[in-house]
Amino acid sequence: MKYYSLGNRHDLVSAEAAIRSGLAPDGSLYMPERILSLDFAALAEAGAALPELGTRVAQAFLGEEIEEAALAGIVREAINFPAPLIEIEPHTWVLELFHGPTLAFKDFGARFMARVLGHFRRNADTSLTVLVATSGDTGSAVAQGFYRVPGVEVVLLYPKGMVSKLQEQQLTTLGENITALEVAGSFDDCQRIVKSAFVDPEITACMELTSANSINIARLIPQSFYYLSAAAELFQRGIPSVSFSVPSGNFGNLTGGLLAKRMGMPASRFIAATNANDSVVRFLNGTDFEPTSTIPTISNAMDVGNPSNFPRLLELCARSRTAMAEEVFGVSCSDEETKACIERVYRKVGYVLDPHAAVGYLGLEKARAAGLNGPGVILGTAHPGKFIDTLDTVLPGVVSLPETLQQVLRLPKQARLISDRFEDFKDFLVSERQA
Ligand SMILES: *Cc1c(COP(=O)(O)O)cnc(C)c1O
Repeated sequence: MKYYSLGNRHDLVSAEAAIRSGLAPDGSLYMPERILSLDFAALAEAGAALPELGTRVAQAFLGEEIEEAALAGIVREAINFPAPLIEIEPHTWVLELFHGPTLAFKDFGARFMARVLGHFRRNADTSLTVLVATSGDTGSAVAQGFYRVPGVEVVLLYPKGMVSKLQEQQLTTLGENITALEVAGSFDDCQRIVKSAFVDPEITACMELTSANSINIARLIPQSFYYLSAAAELFQRGIPSVSFSVPSGNFGNLTGGLLAKRMGMPASRFIAATNANDSVVRFLNGTDFEPTSTIPTISNAMDVGNPSNFPRLLELCARSRTAMAEEVFGVSCSDEETKACIERVYRKVGYVLDPHAAVGYLGLEKARAAGLNGPGVILGTAHPGKFIDTLDTVLPGVVSLPETLQQVLRLPKQARLISDRFEDFKDFLVSERQA
């Protein structure tokens, strides 16, 4: 199967090329030429679980270029943690996607993509260098995802003093094939340096570079697995169709849900649940799509003013706002509502939502108030212990720092400080390479 660029539909490339380059040469996103349909009812009745479903789906997207046994291995290694479906109230479930190493759903995409790239490099005699500018969470999922993947080196750039202590520890304590650079500058400086590296002839002459941000199609594919497995589990229990409420920022997760539905998963409705960064919600409600600058909120992994997957959503909905609005209900909520929701749900049912899942909960609640009936699944995108500072202001003492994060705090930081000048970064990259 080929992948086409949204900027030029005649630009068809292999899965390997789409995944290795991330973006098409004109800067637009890749999409699969076809979405194969699965016999969902048969799969669900056969009791297909996450790894089997994942392998089936991965085969549909990548099976022409990666043989079945290798793909099954990639899925098994990447998704080596469960995604339990917890019924917190009658007809309302949280799909907990935070049992991977960084305790957030981005582990699915990052770990899968890392292993697919590693597979494509298996016979190469040079390594591939993944460059990532991060303001925190994405970098740690990517670093963990690629950790110890043969043939791949990761160089992370983060702004000195601008990430939390915990995030910094997650970025800087892995070592081995993960190098962390602490940049004396802002996140924008980190991004500028990375962008310059991709077009620098001397750098690109001596090493192969790639990026690993959420626009890569290999990060989206595994984000359809857990929708299918959750829907299959409920289907087996006699619930034929559910709505999914998706806490959204760049809209990669919601794109994964639409892909699952196009493959044959029954879904009543998707709810695009956002914080104050609501450009997609406003589009669904009838205004033009207008990216805005980012507004900081307590659900900060969703603070995205210009969601990069919006063109994919539109493409999957036949490029029609009306079609998208029929499938996707948009809700945005404030930090005050989010905090009140965390407290209210805890008092009512004893379940602790992290700030992102709380936005998802509010999304489902508001959609129900607007007339959406039936069972609903909220995607639990992060472990509440990751947001202990916020949780402590709302539910003092209820949540503790998870053991895996406590361990990370005890490890020694290994980061090299560099200036915000591109030349310094280049010296580092080129000399390190030759060393
Ligand atoms: C990244 C992230 C989101 C948003 O996911 P998108 O795919 O960017 O919409 C939601 N919650 C958490 C915890 C995240 O890390």
